[in-house]
Amino acid sequence: MPELPDVAGFKKYLDSTSLHQPVARTSILDRRILDGPSPKGLGGKLKGETLEATRRHGKFLFALTDAGSGAGLVLHFGMTGELAYFQGQDDPPEYTTVLLQFESGGNLAYICKRMLGRVTWTDDVDAFIADEDLGPDALSDDLTRDKFTRRLDGRRGAIKPALMNQAIIAGVGNIYADEICFQAHVHPASKIPDLKTETLQRIHRQMRRILKLAADRGGRIESYPRTWLLSARHRGTDTCPRCDSKLKTTTVSGRTTHYCPGCQGD
Ligand SMILES: [Zn+2]
Repeated sequence: MPELPDVAGFKKYLDSTSLHQPVARTSILDRRILDGPSPKGLGGKLKGETLEATRRHGKFLFALTDAGSGAGLVLHFGMTGELAYFQGQDDPPEYTTVLLQFESGGNLAYICKRMLGRVTWTDDVDAFIADEDLGPDALSDDLTRDKFTRRLDGRRGAIKPALMNQAIIAGVGNIYADEICFQAHVHPASKIPDLKTETLQRIHRQMRRILKLAADRGGRIESYPRTWLLSARHRGTDTCPRCDSKLKTTTVSGRTTHYCPGCQGD
């Protein structure tokens, strides 16, 4: 499921393929993906416009036709969403739901197999973020250590679902929440009031470090350090890459959770 690092990868991809080309036509191949505008309405907004810039906030990607006003296309990738750019008149990839055809002859396909993504339009990105009740982006400059601990202050639940709560911090999902807890040496089911301030500060530090590296690498798990939990799982091993304990799987707040009893306690 696309999380912050994957969406950072989609942003880079869109930036390198699809900016500054007038849109000739927008095709909606499955209108269930649209949240708000009609196919005709969205097509009208985009026709003749160029995608001038992109912005990412949490798991949302905005492709702006007007960077000044913050108007543009809103993409959320759900469980299986992705982008593909191709030239010419070929058929779009399977499960393409929205297709932007540029005057240049290029095409940008938004692909979503399980239809849990969303495509919409906003006239103002900042207002959209506020309406969605999204917290600060996990990598934003203003999410300082103190701001992070303040946002968790007074919460009584477990740390993992708090990290995944987009209203507290935007961008972290199930997979990276596990990685953050692993590298911060915190059991994912730990109750927030039981965690010392130093521990919360360590979680903040690890969260930023992990997401920065993963975003720089566009979410490609095979490129991550071998000592990461994700890398171990990607290799198919159930041995902790740091302490050789046997990794465990449990459920925290209804979500499958991987952790190391040696590094994170049991
Ligand atoms: Zn371990």
